[in-house]
Amino acid sequence: MSVETVSLAAYLIAALLFIRALAGLSRHETASAGNYFGIAGMAVALAATVLVAGHFAISTLGVVLLALAVVAGASIGLWRARVVAMTQIPELIALFHSFVGLAAVLVGWDGYLSVERRPFGPPAIHLKLLGTYGVHHGEVFIGVFIGAVTFTGSIIAFLKLSARIKSAPLMLPGRNRLNLGALAVFVGLTVWFIVHPALLPLVIVTLLALALGLHLVASIGGGDMPVVVSMLNSYSGWAAAASGFLLNNDLLIVTGALVGSSGAYLSYIMCQAMNRSFISVIAGGFGLEAPSSAAQDLGEYREISVEETAELLAHAGSVIITPGYGMAVAQAQHGVAELTRKLRDRGVTVRFGIHPVAGRLPGHMNVLLAEAKVPYDIVLEMDEINDDFPDTDVVLVIGANDTVNPAAMEDPGSPIAGMPVLHVWEAGQVIVFKRSMASGYAGVPNPLFYRENTAMLFGDARVRVEDLLKAL
Ligand code: NDP
Repeated sequence: MSVETVSLAAYLIAALLFIRALAGLSRHETASAGNYFGIAGMAVALAATVLVAGHFAISTLGVVLLALAVVAGASIGLWRARVVAMTQIPELIALFHSFVGLAAVLVGWDGYLSVERRPFGPPAIHLKLLGTYGVHHGEVFIGVFIGAVTFTGSIIAFLKLSARIKSAPLMLPGRNRLNLGALAVFVGLTVWFIVHPALLPLVIVTLLALALGLHLVASIGGGDMPVVVSMLNSYSGWAAAASGFLLNNDLLIVTGALVGSSGAYLSYIMCQAMNRSFISVIAGGFGLEAPSSAAQDLGEYREISVEETAELLAHAGSVIITPGYGMAVAQAQHGVAELTRKLRDRGVTVRFGIHPVAGRLPGHMNVLLAEAKVPYDIVLEMDEINDDFPDTDVVLVIGANDTVNPAAMEDPGSPIAGMPVLHVWEAGQVIVFKRSMASGYAGVPNPLFYRENTAMLFGDARVRVEDLLKAL
């Protein structure tokens, strides 16, 4: 069997494993099996690629460089995966996307330099014969464009998510026109490049796309960052697919298309969860400082002690816990799981209400609760539990803020107006676990804290939950 046949078969197997991985990741119960399918697929793909590279064309120096790159990449990857905190995953993913974008730019440029600007003789004969020469120009150009947008966009997302730069949106005058203008220029440049594949349009499109990626993500505010991360995920998939066309690599095309379409679908689901149109997210402006509620006097808030909270819980028949980013930061999930067991042993009905964008990445809360061995069947999505709050005695809001903010429903002037939220305030009593009166990620004040049936339990969520366990 030839190396080509072996590699084709390996690519096919890897593609099937990736599809199994995505299918597995869509449900809690099968998520870890899905991960193993993904790892197996990537191992097969990597082995086949190294085999092909070793067999064809490349020199000894090439093989050495390849081995060095694999060892260096794998070591950095293993190290990062071991030290990264769950709350830092979105920024790490954003950084990964930037690598995919950069790789697509480099592959595009290499495609140009090795075909359109071949130092020896005319462009590759087979391309000319097949009449695909123009298609190749298109692949180069589109690959470089998507790659460069993904590259700078992801770097800005990384800087924002890791709080290295402010998450407030950059509001340049006429920013929508700037974006649309850049797209129009890109279309014009593409036509130019296909007709006449010169260096100048490629340089211009690279710079244009780098600036566009930077501007696109810089003009998106805090609250919309989850959608941006999945949108960049989608872009990185399309960038990889474009590289696949250029490199004639079927696996890269299939994988890129899988990542591109699943990222786009995830962005769509998240936009729906936040009641936002995709276009308005891309156009930016969400997550601005809220003038309306900020200027209002929200009234007095009430504090509650651990003992009083324990007393309330001891007499409750039903409890809903709504976790948020603060539970993840405090690593309070194990205490929360223990609290759940204790209350259930006493006959209290305990359930969890999970907002689709609670935390800092999609599914963040589900992963933490699963890790702490909270049974899946009591962890419900927002839509499944929102009607049950009026019949609930006590709600424990643990480190959540934006996702339980009634202003989203009641204040049309709020920057998060229209975003669906958990209706926690409809319950008999709400206890909010947080350290201060500070706002959440979207920077919007929360009137929930000032409601009559709300009490604040200040302090680190993990410490407070442990105190509560002792008091119970
Ligand atoms: P928020 O960011 O709205 O609020 C978290 C709250 O946790 C803060 O108000 C903070 O208050 C509190 N907190 C922080 N540390 C601790 C601690 N150690 N102990 C106790 N409390 C703590 O979180 P939500 O989960 O409610 O909402 C998620 C927000 O993040 C949304 O705006 C969403 O759009 C955005 N986002 C979501 C992403 C996703 O994909 N899910 C990705 C990126 C952003 P204090 O400082 O007073 O303690």
